[in-house]
Amino acid sequence: MKIAIFNAHDYDKRYLDRYNRQHHHELVYVDTHLDENTLVLAADAEAVCIFVNDPAPASLLKRMHHQGVRMLALRSAGFNHVDIAAANDLGIVVANVPGYSPYAVAEHAVGLILTLVRRLVRAQARIHEGNFSLDGLMGYDLHGKTVGVVGTGKIGAVFARIMRGFGCELLGYDPKENEECRKLGMRYVSFESLCRNSDIISLHCPLLPETRHLINEQAIAEMRDRVCLINTSRGGVIDTSAIIRGLKSGKIGYLGLDVYEEEENLFFEDHSDSVIGDDVFARLLTFNNVMVTGHQAFFTHEAITNIARTTLENVTEFERTGSCSNQLVAK
Ligand code: NAD
Repeated sequence: MKIAIFNAHDYDKRYLDRYNRQHHHELVYVDTHLDENTLVLAADAEAVCIFVNDPAPASLLKRMHHQGVRMLALRSAGFNHVDIAAANDLGIVVANVPGYSPYAVAEHAVGLILTLVRRLVRAQARIHEGNFSLDGLMGYDLHGKTVGVVGTGKIGAVFARIMRGFGCELLGYDPKENEECRKLGMRYVSFESLCRNSDIISLHCPLLPETRHLINEQAIAEMRDRVCLINTSRGGVIDTSAIIRGLKSGKIGYLGLDVYEEEENLFFEDHSDSVIGDDVFARLLTFNNVMVTGHQAFFTHEAITNIARTTLENVTEFERTGSCSNQLVAK
């Protein structure tokens, strides 16, 4: 099949080309985002392949359908950027890559915690200046701390297992409880109770209407003083303005973000020669207890291998059978 691959970075091309040797699809790489203006670059393609920062609303899906696109292959697990119901109505099959590496994201979340709590960035900067003073570098033991996991699916469960290894107590909040987490000793509690009783809170739920701004003014008020909050899920789960107020008041002691609600036109590109026009994001960067990474939690060799392999398998399965095991259907 001819597949137009939007937003293709060098690493996407390298890994997709390698696995396409077994599939023999015609891969057309497009460096830019998919939108109403760039869709024309997918002329004659039966499948379009996009990443998390390529929104596919109903209007764009309609135009894709007119153009003869039959499949939308996502190079991601998350699919909040696609109007799945509209795609289903149009008969465009949408497939994702579920659970390509829960370890990549869970381990990144742990990395953010250790970097923040042990003040590793500040320590490194000091050492490079020849300053070996320990003032301002005191951290705390993770052992014995209570960790709240919001969303205990594939990534949340791996994260919980790692934190259990540190000797942490585990609290969980998820409408669907995970037996694997229970076996680790996790206690499922209400969201309010998790906020009230956790020293560290890590978000691993999808972005849904009910999770948008789950971390808001009210939730922050419930949290322990100097809480460590980590978000590797989706930016929209946090109300960024509320979080800035929490940082200013000192309520939030440490903030680790791999995602940001307005990341779409910011992350994945080099803006080092221009001015960042997003004042809210710029304010976040002024706090020395905030660590931001640009949606890189998924970015490991193992994860990119699985994404390339499964994306091509999804297209091949669709080509052969007209459907796909990883097909997404609106609830
Ligand atoms: P998953 O589907 O295995 O788990 C998600 C869990 O969230 C499920 O157990 C579900 O029941 C739970 N959930 C649903 N609604 C909830 C709610 N209202 N409150 C609390 N929990 C709720 O998904 P996963 O593979 O573990 O991925 C989790 C999320 O991580 C994805 O949706 C995606 O947004 C994010 N993610 C981020 C990166 C990254 O690079 N930063 C990479 C992959 C995934």
